[in-house]
Amino acid sequence: DLGALAQLLESLDGHGYRAYRRIEGAWVGPGFTLLVDHVQPDPFATPTRLRVRLPHSVHRLPPELWSNRARRTGLLDYLLRVFKRAVQSCPGVGSGRSCQFFVDAGGAEVLERAAACMGPDYLELRFRVGLPARGRTVLGQAAARLLTEVLPQALQALHAARLDLAQARAWADLTEDHAHLQAQLESLGLVAFVRDGSVLPRESGVSSRPLSGAVPFESPPELRVTLATLHHGPVTGMGLPEGVTVVTGGGFHGKTTLLEAIERGVYPHVPGDGREWVVTRSTTVKLRSEDGRAVTGVHLTPFVHDLPFGASTDFFSTADASGSTSLAAAIQEALEVGARVLLLDEDTSATNLLVRDARMQRLVRRETITPLIDRVRELHERLGVSTLLVTGGGGDYLDVADRVLLLENYRVRDATEEARALVRELPTGRAVGDPAHPLRVRPRVPEAASFDPRRGGRVKIKAQGTETLLFGRETLDLRGLEQLVDPSQTRAIGHLMARLRELAGDRTLAQLLAQLERELDEHGLHHLDPAPELARPRRYELAGTINRLRSLRVRPWRSEKSSP
Ligand code: ADP
Repeated sequence: DLGALAQLLESLDGHGYRAYRRIEGAWVGPGFTLLVDHVQPDPFATPTRLRVRLPHSVHRLPPELWSNRARRTGLLDYLLRVFKRAVQSCPGVGSGRSCQFFVDAGGAEVLERAAACMGPDYLELRFRVGLPARGRTVLGQAAARLLTEVLPQALQALHAARLDLAQARAWADLTEDHAHLQAQLESLGLVAFVRDGSVLPRESGVSSRPLSGAVPFESPPELRVTLATLHHGPVTGMGLPEGVTVVTGGGFHGKTTLLEAIERGVYPHVPGDGREWVVTRSTTVKLRSEDGRAVTGVHLTPFVHDLPFGASTDFFSTADASGSTSLAAAIQEALEVGARVLLLDEDTSATNLLVRDARMQRLVRRETITPLIDRVRELHERLGVSTLLVTGGGGDYLDVADRVLLLENYRVRDATEEARALVRELPTGRAVGDPAHPLRVRPRVPEAASFDPRRGGRVKIKAQGTETLLFGRETLDLRGLEQLVDPSQTRAIGHLMARLRELAGDRTLAQLLAQLERELDEHGLHHLDPAPELARPRRYELAGTINRLRSLRVRPWRSEKSSP
């Protein structure tokens, strides 16, 4: 039991660090089981991996807090934050990461994490601790205190008797209501909902905290809807309809802030975030240009075609895409894996892929680009894909927009009627559409060899924030995936790609992603890898990463050979 662990640790005092290996295994404590899964080789290495199991009969948290997937995700997210706070009080002694606990709790978003799960009999937490050392020698007493006093005490904070149950319920209720609203949006013909009173701007570009003193969101009367929630009564705010929406307004009036809130609204947020009632369809993908990225085997022809000297763009690859090519590829790649709402900001989009005006249409005859403006109506009417574009300057988009929102002093106004009048008064003379290059997506079949996580014989999967993923021999730049919000998602993406090495072969990318999602639903994240620091990514960010692999090899799907 834990007494024996304390004794063992004290007896290891003064030994070389490797002696810690002897504590690997299971230890029964008062009201919990401690599993020491992997001991770090030295005080500076990745800290020791532990698990703790708290039987339901011990923590006594009300089962209604985890009665379905969304509630469970919300509750576990809250418990991880509480646990992280509880272990942080621990005094730091020793070298390297001695005495530090590492708990993978979240930021502004509520995500499914490997660090906590509810089993049939117990709550399990996964985390790391730096076993204490002076130089490279075991500090036995400090280690005994850490694992047999500090840890058990911290775990008490998770018992129903000690936990702030109202807060825990707030987390579960909010996460469930986010899912509830998200599931309603499609049948209501909406792509997003922003509740009145939401606080959208952040404190600063590097902070996820709400800006204090911000102008609260207020819906324009034309778009005001009231939706039913499960736990919070009716909520009123802006319902953004499907179709083509242009968000415009002068610089610094809050356009990008609104777009970013909608981008993040695919995830539930923590209570008090200010954006907890911004709910966006789960199939929403933010797209941007990304100079220099790799593109592999994408059917670009609906946007880029008739290259000089007749090079085909039906199955287009490049190691160094331009701003317009990368945006065209991003659109096609998103559609390939099921995106139904596209978000774009002119600040981060190549202008020549967004629009070409009437004068340029007449001057440039050998045009190789069909801009998005000629595709958005078709995207909506033929494929059921909505587009929301933030633009201060793309006035030609008024021709094709179903809805025009104007931001003035952080307030949204529905300017659709004014825009229609302007379109009649000042016709652009643009020819819209491009029937010569039909809009379609060609599914691709990735080859298993694309997904090799090894470097020099060893598996190398390492996330550096949400911006970089080291995968095998590659260093992937993921800054273009703006809806990747947590480094643990980045890490999970690495492990999911490694799994594709086993699954890939004769299935399309979309089919492979569906298979991975089924596996995650069934087995959870911790089946991917024993690391506690894994959070569930969306399929779009996983696909986005795969699409940026320079080792990606694909062939076009031949539907006539076998059916999907
Ligand atoms: P735009 O995209 O129209 O140029 P931004 O969205 O970048 O404008 O916003 C400009 C500035 O105004 C940012 O510093 C942002 O934090 C701030 N801001 C945005 N919305 C609000 C608001 N509702 N209340 C107060 N400040 C806001």
